[in-house]
Amino acid sequence: MTASDGEPRLRRALENVPTYRPGRPAPGGGTVVTLYKLSSNENPYPPLPGVLEAAAEAAAEMNRYPDMYATELVAAVAEHLDVPELDVVPGTGTVGVLKQVVQTVAGEGDEVVYAWRSFEAYPIFTGVAGATSVQVPLDRGARHDLEALADAINDRTRLVIVCSPNNPTGPVVHKNELNKFLVQVPSDVLIVIDEAYAELVRDPEAANGLDVYRQHGNVCVLRTFSKAYGLAGLRVGYAVAHDAVADALRKTAVPFGVSTIAQQAAIASLQRKALLLERVDQLVTERTRVVDALRAQGWAIPDTEANFVWFELGDETARFAQHCADHGLAVRPYAPDGCRVTIGEPAANDQMLAASQEWIEQHQ
Ligand SMILES: *Cc1c(COP(=O)(O)O)cnc(C)c1O
Repeated sequence: MTASDGEPRLRRALENVPTYRPGRPAPGGGTVVTLYKLSSNENPYPPLPGVLEAAAEAAAEMNRYPDMYATELVAAVAEHLDVPELDVVPGTGTVGVLKQVVQTVAGEGDEVVYAWRSFEAYPIFTGVAGATSVQVPLDRGARHDLEALADAINDRTRLVIVCSPNNPTGPVVHKNELNKFLVQVPSDVLIVIDEAYAELVRDPEAANGLDVYRQHGNVCVLRTFSKAYGLAGLRVGYAVAHDAVADALRKTAVPFGVSTIAQQAAIASLQRKALLLERVDQLVTERTRVVDALRAQGWAIPDTEANFVWFELGDETARFAQHCADHGLAVRPYAPDGCRVTIGEPAANDQMLAASQEWIEQHQ
């Protein structure tokens, strides 16, 4: 073999990294039903009034690089959360920031501890960094087992990720269990609390990442504009972290990663918080309606504080996803565990409830 016909040598660490699979588009074909995409936890509503205009205005400057540090957005988020501006680091979606976080603390020989099943980006980013995933099974309520997570921490642990509400199962971690957990984690281990669905949480016992970030120097909170704020297509999220970690996240960022369009749309959305929260309330009302209806149909649905529900289906996972596709619904199968279905607009949820009812009747 000559130098010119060999393949470029890739890092060995990438060999075992799973490939991220995006949610399916709404199924096509000549079906008579309306097609809905309930596979990516997107907000079903169009941008809030004025947000599209702010984005369009920003688009007029597309010949310019964005403000690299998103100064105006950082100030708006810091005010919104009542945290120091220096602690807010935006990125290309929360997944962009998360990738930076893993890169910042973990490499070859290090361990990253998280619950499983949880967000599928965790094993990918851990593997890309060359670090080792330590997956701690969820408990029987599909909730984080924080005692088992604490037990999984050792000298090699550099990062613990807590996902609350947990994607794809739905439950939150509670204040008392998180507080008990945090004092068991060595202070040189970073704890990320991934709160992509924070705005949808209604459980009064739910932990609030910002509260514990204020008390612990090793806590970093991740939030996003993709879910409740409905800006998934623009790629903007952020970390709230203390000094050295926040600095490192600024160092590892893709320069100019968050576009001016995304920055301005996010600022405009924060300015319309009241309207936004009304919409979020509608989604929460729909969530309650869907969960109640599914349980009445006979499904054992875990408590969910997010914009999705979890069907534990085991070996039937792929068949259930196909059944939903036959009803015009794209859902997210995670074989061999179950399917995650996003709460959409009421008509989409009605169609989902009809499909789940039919499945129950066929499987009695
Ligand atoms: C959707 C999601 C994110 C981030 O999404 P971005 O669009 O990258 O901001 C992060 N964590 C969890 C658990 C999610 O479900």
